[in-house]
Amino acid sequence: MLRFSVLDPLSSDRNEMGSVREEEVLTIFRTHPWEEMLAKMNNAPPTEQHYLPSIEFESVDRYAISVSRSEECREPGFNIYFMTYGTEDEMFAHLRNQVPEVVEAVLSNFAVSNYQDLRRQFVESNPSQHPIPSIAGQCEFCGRMIEAIRDDPCKVIVPDGEGLTKVLLAHTVCFKASVRVYF
Ligand SMILES: [Zn+2]
Repeated sequence: MLRFSVLDPLSSDRNEMGSVREEEVLTIFRTHPWEEMLAKMNNAPPTEQHYLPSIEFESVDRYAISVSRSEECREPGFNIYFMTYGTEDEMFAHLRNQVPEVVEAVLSNFAVSNYQDLRRQFVESNPSQHPIPSIAGQCEFCGRMIEAIRDDPCKVIVPDGEGLTKVLLAHTVCFKASVRVYF
């Protein structure tokens, strides 16, 4: 079984959708309302946009694939992220602006736990991708580097007083602690 979650562009929380069977991942990808989500995002002011429309699957052995609708082009393009959480061979890699067929090939490998082929697929098809955790930037609160994993970085959108907005990066935990809000 896989843990399935969805990011709605206008919601700051990850929507946990419960467990799904491995053989369901392709259908979930194909039937997800990508265009509807994208339209919803594009019709909202930037301050209300939290995420690109995404779906994520996580295995019990802590490997995860996240697919988001790419913002780079009008054609059906997707960004695919391959992550591990605290496994021995920890990695974070992504493929940008891919056609649905590539997403389906990745999901098919993931569904059968074929991590070796997945690793190869991510590293070889994009030589600039190294299987090391990617650093998203520096946390505005604690000053340490932020690894781009799961719910990090948290993006804090702040008006600069001159009609523009600034995006600050933070660890989600640091942000929550600093604003003393109980999520
Ligand atoms: Zn921090």
